[in-house]
Amino acid sequence: MDERRIAARFTGFDQDGNGYIDREDFYAAAKALLAEFGATARCDKGQALFAGAEAFWQGMAGIADVDGDQRVTRGEFVTGAVKRLRDSPERFAEIARPFLRGAIEVADPEGPGIGADAARRALRVLGVEERSAAAAVAALDADGDGRIAEEELVRGFAAYFTVPE
Ligand code: CA
Ligand code: CA
Repeated sequence: MDERRIAARFTGFDQDGNGYIDREDFYAAAKALLAEFGATARCDKGQALFAGAEAFWQGMAGIADVDGDQRVTRGEFVTGAVKRLRDSPERFAEIARPFLRGAIEVADPEGPGIGADAARRALRVLGVEERSAAAAVAALDADGDGRIAEEELVRGFAAYFTVPE
């Protein structure tokens, strides 16, 4: 994966843009999703999403926070996360799954899975540009039925971070 793509992935995680990935970034993502879809942090879905955010952060830190300072720098992300995640994308999928499941529940409670419109809104609120969000949703909804199943989302998410295009 080239430098530019790695930088884009890093920026995706660094939600508050302060130059490193930490727990706050995952919590910021959960908060943004709750605000966008009109759910509260205290409701069951809100709590599930925050639990997923915490698990995602712990998983990321376990893989990439080499010096254990509770921050993942760009350097740690490049050498640690990207390389190791590429070796085992299924591990990354499992780390991300509780958060993604929580996001689906918040964004599209009707289910099953998440509708294409809700998925686009979720990506936009997480800072993904309109065109990239639309392209990602189109790719995830491979059969074009307008919905993305949890499994498709988890696999697509892992592939985005682990597979060089
Ligand atoms: Ca950050
Ligand atoms: Ca660190």
